[in-house]
Amino acid sequence: MKESSFVSAYLKMDEESDYVLQNSPCAFLGNDNKCSVYEYRPLACREYPHTDRKNMIQILGITEKNTLICPAVAIIFEELKKGYL
Ligand code: SF4
Repeated sequence: MKESSFVSAYLKMDEESDYVLQNSPCAFLGNDNKCSVYEYRPLACREYPHTDRKNMIQILGITEKNTLICPAVAIIFEELKKGYL
């Protein structure tokens, strides 16, 4: 599949000009609750939840959104707030 076809079939641009999935849950999540493209999953999936990035300060907005869907991110975010607020 060409990149442009993939983008138009599965992705959309969010308000921060980042590509995000058009649908949730992801179209590649199987009925067995496993990733059907695991070996080829995108870098963003491989790096999720992005809490070990050196430039994490630049993605705080995304990280805050992720606190709503990932308990691990919520815990990490609360710990970070203790250190910086
Ligand atoms: S790992 Fe990524 S590609 Fe796979 S199901 Fe989850 S969101 Fe979709």
